[in-house]
Amino acid sequence: MAQGRGWEGAVLRLMRAKDFTLTVTGAQDVTPRFRRVHLTDGGLLAATGVHPTMWVRLWFDNAGRPHQRAYTLVDPDPAAGTFSLEFALHEGAASDWARAARPGDTVEATVQGTAFDAPAPAPDRVLAIGDPASLPAINSLLAALGPAPATVWFEGSDGEGDGLPFRTDPARHELRHVPRAELVERVRAELPAQLTATAHPYVWITCDTRTTRTLSAYVRKELGVPKERVHALGYWRAD
Ligand SMILES: Cc1cc2nc3c(=O)[nH]c(=O)nc-3n(C[C@H](O)[C@H](O)[C@H](O)COP(=O)(O)OP(=O)(O)OC[C@H]3O[C@@H](n4cnc5c(N)ncnc54)[C@H](O)[C@@H]3O)c2cc1C
Repeated sequence: MAQGRGWEGAVLRLMRAKDFTLTVTGAQDVTPRFRRVHLTDGGLLAATGVHPTMWVRLWFDNAGRPHQRAYTLVDPDPAAGTFSLEFALHEGAASDWARAARPGDTVEATVQGTAFDAPAPAPDRVLAIGDPASLPAINSLLAALGPAPATVWFEGSDGEGDGLPFRTDPARHELRHVPRAELVERVRAELPAQLTATAHPYVWITCDTRTTRTLSAYVRKELGVPKERVHALGYWRAD
């Protein structure tokens, strides 16, 4: 009996260890369409540890229904038990929550599915393709992959990237702003030359699901980049 309770308790503890309540401590509009929210982590970082590009599943309310969306940790500080989240703003319950977020507001978070396998051998160039929703992940990736130079194709029409918190280092990271309608075409035109010059590339694709699927198939099947050198994950679903 006691053993049974112990077993159940252990399972419960394991399950509960993945669920946390985050509390807002402040927020800033970085641009009119990009908002950073600061939070205390409710014990999350101490319980789960932290890795590059780490993300959490947040539970928002959508007209009385649970609405789960993924967001990337920005500046996680396990000692302080804090991190920030950066929201690309558009329509949607997650965006609405972020727009209204004020100190004292809370949101539930589940840690499940996030992982980071550092590419080995270390890349001699990172080729990243993303947009405002994946900017926090790309910033974290480039920091984690240290000295590797990078080319970043960043989706956004003229001026849309202005004021966004890029942490790219102009000395080693080349940032190419590309209008959404031209992204696939531009990557197809420009990425092969970068691959030719790179013995150990690492390709990171985090756009909307359709663009991600198209580009990941192109890079893996047409260009023959081995799958362990390509990370492709759709970050949002376009209508
Ligand atoms: C691993 C992972 C990490 C992520 N990290 C971040 C992050 O750090 N910051 C961040 O902003 N997003 C991030 N995202 C993307 C975010 O989860 C989605 O954009 C999500 O759909 C937003 O939910 P919502 O409730 O605001 O909108 P939804 O209810 O999902 O969608 C409402 C409407 O908005 C459109 N839409 C949704 N997302 C976008 C977008 N990004 N750009 C333009 N239109 C959009 C939809 O097509 C739909 O029309 C991440 C996704 C993944 C998978």
